[in-house]
Amino acid sequence: MKKTSGSISRRDLLVGSAAVGGFALLGSPKISFAQTAGGLSAAAASGFDDLAGLLRGELILPGHDAYDESRKVWNGMIDKHPAAIARCTGAADVMDVVKYARDNNIPVSVRGGGHNVAGKALKDGAITIDLAGMHGIWVDPAKKRARVQGGAIWAALDRETLAFNLVTNGGTVSTTGVGGLTLGGGLGWIMRKHGLSCDNVMAADVVTADGRLLVVNEKENSDLYWAIRGGGGNFGVVTSFEFKLHDLEPIVGGMAMYPESMLKEMFHFYRDYTSKAPDSVTTMAGVIVGPPGTPVEGQNAGVIIVCHKGPASDGERLVKPIKEFGPPALDFIGPTSYKAQQSLFDAGSPPGLRNYWRSNFMTELSDAAIDAIVARSDELPSPESMILIEHLGGAVGRVGAHDTAFSNRAAQYNTSVFGTWVDAVDDNRIVAWVRTFSDELKAFSTGGAYVNYMASDEGAGNIEAAYEANFKRLTDVKRKYDPTNFFSGNQNIAP
Ligand SMILES: Cc1cc2nc3c(=O)[nH]c(=O)nc-3n(C[C@H](O)[C@H](O)[C@H](O)COP(=O)(O)OP(=O)(O)OC[C@H]3O[C@@H](n4cnc5c(N)ncnc54)[C@H](O)[C@@H]3O)c2cc1C
Repeated sequence: MKKTSGSISRRDLLVGSAAVGGFALLGSPKISFAQTAGGLSAAAASGFDDLAGLLRGELILPGHDAYDESRKVWNGMIDKHPAAIARCTGAADVMDVVKYARDNNIPVSVRGGGHNVAGKALKDGAITIDLAGMHGIWVDPAKKRARVQGGAIWAALDRETLAFNLVTNGGTVSTTGVGGLTLGGGLGWIMRKHGLSCDNVMAADVVTADGRLLVVNEKENSDLYWAIRGGGGNFGVVTSFEFKLHDLEPIVGGMAMYPESMLKEMFHFYRDYTSKAPDSVTTMAGVIVGPPGTPVEGQNAGVIIVCHKGPASDGERLVKPIKEFGPPALDFIGPTSYKAQQSLFDAGSPPGLRNYWRSNFMTELSDAAIDAIVARSDELPSPESMILIEHLGGAVGRVGAHDTAFSNRAAQYNTSVFGTWVDAVDDNRIVAWVRTFSDELKAFSTGGAYVNYMASDEGAGNIEAAYEANFKRLTDVKRKYDPTNFFSGNQNIAP
């Protein structure tokens, strides 16, 4: 069943991504849309031989030594069994898998960095379009642009851009995939200064449901360009993104922790602080269980986490109120590197734990919302669970509500309840806690939630609410590019 060796050289990546940069001119597709009844069983019975023969990457089938490892994703609750996993090496592999799956009536899912908590990267009985091998990155320092293949992770993108003292807004855990995070929006440490990750996408190459590769930017396929900036993986497989880059500047960042007795005061302080913070400051505040070895070990502790990007003297001045408030039980805020800030949460976010998340966008942090959060904070259901409020606004809020598919631009905060635990015996208890708490917080929300933090069982209504007035236009674009909902392994926008 093993078609080729799994090792992929940098040269392979370069050759395989002939479409990178939009230079490829690909002819019109000759695809039969005839749907074969029982396509999956026929294809599986043949060992997917015809597909394996097309691909430059490996096709992993059940029974292959690598199958179980390849179907693992970050969330340990996800245990899905794809019919086949296509380890794509370039746009050509992606196009062939899409055509093959369409012709044989086999569903697909798309895996970028595998961090989606709802486990959307995999589908039982589907072909997984696995992009992990497509992680090439090319930086053009003169134009301040980076071309990034669809399966890269943020640590890799930061590594390449930092070599030229350039950065773009990425996720706060460096192992997360660029693909899924960017397509759903992309909240990160420099978003208030430079916008969401999706706001920094200048162009992309997208393989659509008919197997064509489309160059997508403001001028070409501009409706698709609009939709992929927030609309998730609904419209096709992004084989590469082009990101705008920004000059690296000094970073002052880190975290302060406060004892449980100060939680209410801390959230009030945070609200005042964020109401005055300039765009150079991005912060989060929340409640965690104090980690071992800290003065708040085992207690429910308040946290404020900050990142200032700009002149160091401004940074030191602007983080001072956080360091002086309280005082904190623990304070490690100070000058740091961009790389350290980007991986601040890495150790606390290991793969394999069980996770169930929900979020609510809020235009303000009202007294009542703070009271509701504080009331629940002594009930964190496991040492790994937490409540986290991300401060939005700044450059995020200056993008017009209808300029990209990402909605909720007026929201000032994203308040999330992250249930994380070790043992399956706790599944029902912790999932129920997250649901109940998150439903309570809805009373203070815009009605919308962040699609990238959505749980596996969020209904279509929640997805529609997440897109506010942009939802109708998203369904129109979906109908144009994916009328049969071929790409349904996502927070789905039905055509
Ligand atoms: C530890 C952790 C930290 C996180 N931190 C942040 C954060 O700081 N900011 C933030 O905004 N979000 C964050 N998230 C949420 C994250 O944005 C989503 O989980 C996102 O889906 C992850 O993308 P991925 O490519 O790793 O996921 P995957 O599970 O591989 O993909 C998820 C879905 O995205 C789509 N997709 C992925 N790549 C492509 C592609 N190239 N083309 C087309 N579709 C694609 C597919 O529909 C796929 O099903 C975090 C998640 C985790 C687990």
